[in-house]
Amino acid sequence: MMRMKKKEKTKKRYDRFGKKIEEKGSFIIMRKKYCRFCKDKVKDIDYKNLNVLEKLISERGKILSRRNTGTCARHQRIIAAVIKRARFLSLMPYTRYI
Ligand SMILES: [Zn+2]
Repeated sequence: MMRMKKKEKTKKRYDRFGKKIEEKGSFIIMRKKYCRFCKDKVKDIDYKNLNVLEKLISERGKILSRRNTGTCARHQRIIAAVIKRARFLSLMPYTRYI
């Protein structure tokens, strides 16, 4: 869904439906967020699949929030558990210095 809205603030923000409000010129583009795992109909995420998990942590190694990634609540719970499992097995970092 794309909707044009008059500019209100210059800061990047989110409305209460989780839509990202981006600033572009004098207009704000609202883009609907979707869960990439629901889109691909993924049921369980493998802890060895580091290419996918790497995108869900910050550069400091923290688990990114639903607000940032657009993941649904069900998949976010699975992801949190899987990342913690991968951390315990030293496949992923607990923390990382930049
Ligand atoms: Zn989902």
